[in-house]
Amino acid sequence: MNLDLSADECAFRDEVRAFLASALTEELREAGRRTTSVFTDKRVSLAWQKTLHAKGWVAPSWPKEYGGTGWSEMQRYIFARECAHAGAPGLAPMGLRMVAPAIMRFGTEAQKSHYLPRILSGEDYWCQGYSEPGSGSDLASLQLRAVPDGEDYLLNGSKIWTTHAQWANRMFCLVRTRADGKPQGGITFLLLDMATPGIAVKPIITLAGEHEVNQVFFDSVRVPRANRLGGENQGWTVAKVLLEFERGGGSAAGLKVSLARVKAIAATETADDGSPLIEDVAFRSRLAAVEIALEAIEMTEHRVMSALAAGGNPGPASSLLKAQGTEAMQRIDELAIEACARYATVEQPAARAHGSNVAAIGPQHSLFAMPRYLNNRAASIYGGSNEIQRNIIAQLVLGL
Ligand SMILES: Cc1cc2nc3c(=O)[nH]c(=O)nc-3n(C[C@H](O)[C@H](O)[C@H](O)COP(=O)(O)OP(=O)(O)OC[C@H]3O[C@@H](n4cnc5c(N)ncnc54)[C@H](O)[C@@H]3O)c2cc1C
Repeated sequence: MNLDLSADECAFRDEVRAFLASALTEELREAGRRTTSVFTDKRVSLAWQKTLHAKGWVAPSWPKEYGGTGWSEMQRYIFARECAHAGAPGLAPMGLRMVAPAIMRFGTEAQKSHYLPRILSGEDYWCQGYSEPGSGSDLASLQLRAVPDGEDYLLNGSKIWTTHAQWANRMFCLVRTRADGKPQGGITFLLLDMATPGIAVKPIITLAGEHEVNQVFFDSVRVPRANRLGGENQGWTVAKVLLEFERGGGSAAGLKVSLARVKAIAATETADDGSPLIEDVAFRSRLAAVEIALEAIEMTEHRVMSALAAGGNPGPASSLLKAQGTEAMQRIDELAIEACARYATVEQPAARAHGSNVAAIGPQHSLFAMPRYLNNRAASIYGGSNEIQRNIIAQLVLGL
């Protein structure tokens, strides 16, 4: 893959840079830098989404007919890279990147025209109701019952680990509509309104002390049959397509920015023998190993972008990208903790007041290294654990 830019692509890059320089307020950049959890705070990501929406750049991967940009693969890459360099906050993926492609593929015309514009504008904020207590990796064993009742389904059961359910006004949800036969053959995909009576959202506080995930309880919740995406008992097919998009998101540009930050800190901090940490052979070799991994991720990412630009699915390359990307992220977090040394611990005022070199680079690097490290432990679990991704690669890529 040739990543050298043509004259037109350089002009496009300059246009993106100029837009980011004017549209990205210092408050938004700071909020992006301060994000330590899996997703950016809703208030911040929505503010940025509205700005991008007004510019027509909110959904580069969508087909143009639904509000996409019509950009080439290279333009999408340039845009993602420039956003990462400029410190733009991330957008919530559950609507734009996950349920939207499934609606485009499996939705009725009425569903497309209702939901897609609301996803683009940020009017609807989605959460994902897949996992249940006892059904994670073995997702097809899910038990939340949906019984047909007149024009509705009646839902009873619960979902767990539901990210941002406390903020979402919509959920896409897998339910059991048939108990006999193959478990995959009795699952239906529903789109539901979180304000429906009988839904209760209970917080789960993570290791990093944050409220990001929830358990959601359903007590005789009525969902119109018209809110079904795809056929009854056909939900497994919809669910699998959506998971490819969930796992196939961009990552190399952001990871390169994080690695550059670690290098900047390591250039000012000292190793045990008093020399700069960046010159420590063991540290350097670990930095180099991550750099090599990032090159590989960038190439995988281009494969996924090519597939999307051609109107296809990410395919099993999304599993490769998910496993490679999350593991590189965790290695960068470990290097950041090592580089920040004692300033990465909870006694943060010392990092600000001590006049340490870490503080000179920007106290946020030490302040946020530990929460990032703790939160990103979850990255190799959510969206399907990396062991499951390796199973998929073994079967679909290696043919084992
Ligand atoms: C921060 C966070 C956010 C999340 N957000 C959401 C969300 O918004 N919506 C949602 O629906 N879910 C969400 N999840 C749930 C996530 O998808 C599940 O946690 C994940 O699929 C693993 O399921 P489990 O937790 O039940 O673990 P289990 O399935 O019980 O797995 C336990 C361990 O066994 C391993 N294992 C299991 N089966 C196999 C196998 N066949 N081969 C090899 N190893 C195996 C797993 O890799 C794992 O290490 C989130 C999870 C986290 C941590």
